[in-house]
Amino acid sequence: MSTSVLTAQMREYFETGVTKNYDFRLEQLRKLKATVQKYEIEIFEALHKDLHKSKEECWITENGFFLSEIGVAIKKLSHWMKPEKVGTNLLNIPSSSFIMPEPLGVVFIISPWNYPFQLLLTPLIGAIAAGNCVVLKPSELAPATAAIMKTIIEETFDEKYILYVEGDGATVVPELMNSFIFDHVFYTGSTAVGKSVYELAAKNLVPVTLELGGKSPCIVEADADIKTAAKRIAMPKFSNAGQMCVAPDYLLVHHSVKDELVTELKKVIHNFFGDDAQKSDFFGRIINEKQFVRLEKYLSNGKLLAGGKADKSNLYIEPTLIEITDVNDAIMQEEIFGPILPIISFTEMQDAIRIIKLNKNPLAMYVFTSSSEKEKHWLSAIPFGGGCINNASLHLTNHKLPFGGRGASGMGNYHGKFSFDTFSHKKAVMKTPKWLDLAIKYPPYTNKLNLFKKAIN
Ligand code: NAD
Repeated sequence: MSTSVLTAQMREYFETGVTKNYDFRLEQLRKLKATVQKYEIEIFEALHKDLHKSKEECWITENGFFLSEIGVAIKKLSHWMKPEKVGTNLLNIPSSSFIMPEPLGVVFIISPWNYPFQLLLTPLIGAIAAGNCVVLKPSELAPATAAIMKTIIEETFDEKYILYVEGDGATVVPELMNSFIFDHVFYTGSTAVGKSVYELAAKNLVPVTLELGGKSPCIVEADADIKTAAKRIAMPKFSNAGQMCVAPDYLLVHHSVKDELVTELKKVIHNFFGDDAQKSDFFGRIINEKQFVRLEKYLSNGKLLAGGKADKSNLYIEPTLIEITDVNDAIMQEEIFGPILPIISFTEMQDAIRIIKLNKNPLAMYVFTSSSEKEKHWLSAIPFGGGCINNASLHLTNHKLPFGGRGASGMGNYHGKFSFDTFSHKKAVMKTPKWLDLAIKYPPYTNKLNLFKKAIN
């Protein structure tokens, strides 16, 4: 069956109203959770095949992460679905008002390859919880994970409710978006492709959530606890071989603690991955040759401080530290998305701010400092999506925080209740009783201006 016939079927199914029911939504979430649990081993194997992820890393960042999010949705669904009572302004008294979340309709979720499982199925939790029908499009660049997700989705759901579509994104996505008017598109991936998706959506005024990338700075102040900072920076930077949207992209370190930080980072890398990271079970691989070649070029930028080894036959790039003195180097022009960490020293805060502003609106920012004054200053000086103080990347694991970017790093957000909100329309309703109907509201308005001025101001 062609995808346009399938999406038309989905629209019909959505119109029946079945997916709006609380029991239905809850049952679908429970079924999805059970199937994901059933295929735990296959998910581990697929992620190892695609990205050399260890089971432990998968649990933290992929299927375990997903299970934690779906657990929250199952527990909170009835609460999230309840209309929210709000106050009513003086003019409309004695009316009452409420906000009623309702499903958007048939929505489209498109995901990238770096966390191929989590980034497709976590938004799905919000979409199901909010009562939508969903078309899922995984990345074609993590084929083993795409295959196990196809099994999970097709075993759990009817295709008129949740449809799994595969293929080359540059062909499949425009085809789908030109042949069917979705009610929302939720896209995770690069900023460049995000712009094309936004353009396709704009033609039919389809709302979008864009979860994009960018260069996320990490600042280490002179008063930071350097040992702790080194661990907390190296963990996300080298997790999944740096192919993480919120990994610290580059370090801005106060010149007085640069040498100490570099020494600690080297120690930490050794503690994490041993004498040879290529032999470690806990160090990932670059997704494909195209990305490997792009990253390998960065190794000749700046001054090598640690690492630097690259093995194309194994898509391996060693955890690498590079000192950068020229911000015009290629490595500072685009998101790195790999295990190479540029280190730039600064003396005055203003100099560091100038460097960050070369890439406006990063997805994340991290500040390591012991001073609450500095913390406040950094938080107010730089617009960014989300971030951490004395930590890096882990803000995304707190479902009580909205996760998303701004400007070039995206629009909209999700996780926890925010996912439910992203896939719901907030219908605003005012209910007015019959027993009071003041004549002043109605024409003719002769001599009523002063009364209006009192009532409406
Ligand atoms: P990508 O943009 O190449 O691909 C993402 C998805 O878009 C894939 O499903 C792909 O098939 C599809 N696609 C590719 N070309 C397309 C086109 N021309 N038109 C429509 N769809 C197309 O991204 P990627 O390389 O898979 O992922 C890496 C990027 O994603 C990085 O920039 C990273 O920062 C970002 N990212 C962001 C987040 C976040 O939550 N903000 C999470 C992970 C990754």
